[in-house]
Amino acid sequence: MAKVYLGIGHGGADSGAVSGGFKEKEIALSIGKACAEELRRHGVTVKISREKDKDMTIAAKVNECNSFGPDLAADLHINAGGGDGAEVFHSVSGGRGRTLGTDILEALEEAGQNSRGCKTKARSDGKDYFAFIRNTKAPAVIIESAFIDNKKDFAAIDTAAEQKAFGKAIAKGFLKSLGIPYKEEVRAVAYNDAKEIPKWAREAVEKVTKAGLMVGDDKGNFNPNEPVTRAQLALVLQRLEML
Ligand SMILES: [Zn+2]
Repeated sequence: MAKVYLGIGHGGADSGAVSGGFKEKEIALSIGKACAEELRRHGVTVKISREKDKDMTIAAKVNECNSFGPDLAADLHINAGGGDGAEVFHSVSGGRGRTLGTDILEALEEAGQNSRGCKTKARSDGKDYFAFIRNTKAPAVIIESAFIDNKKDFAAIDTAAEQKAFGKAIAKGFLKSLGIPYKEEVRAVAYNDAKEIPKWAREAVEKVTKAGLMVGDDKGNFNPNEPVTRAQLALVLQRLEML
């Protein structure tokens, strides 16, 4: 089972970049949550550094990531300094981190954002400048989705729906790097046999479908009246544990 660690930039007293009433720590969290949800929908085990507004040192984040032992890792940020577009930093050693960066930027471009490309930043000793990239054992990247202080660029992620779309795009990049085919989201009401789902169960079916806990069959049916086998139940319980 593939594993991804998602670090959320800043938090708590550290707002990160701030502009026009927007805070980097909040936008990064919103994008990260959507990314995690999309990855989980595809069966990926995700650990996210925070789901609330709290502080976490880079060292703690690196430790948490290393003990989780993911296949790939990213730390999510929002840029500042008046540039335009998304950029991703990866290790000076390239490898899977560079591939991940390329896959993520490609997915963000597909979602309508322009790319400033994959980058590296080294210290004077030649090692990676960013501790999240230097000290994590897994291939890791730092994603800067857009510039908070460029009105035109930031207009692409200034709503909750747009942040969700960016999160999904980043997830698509991860999935490509992990070799997991992307599945379009199926809403419960979109099942061919949606009419057979009792009214009292519709909301529940919608929720478990969205969370990736239960999915329909290959023909797009939910089969609401079929019994669950012990094997299927075990799969659902395993997915539940990963949430
Ligand atoms: Zn930042």
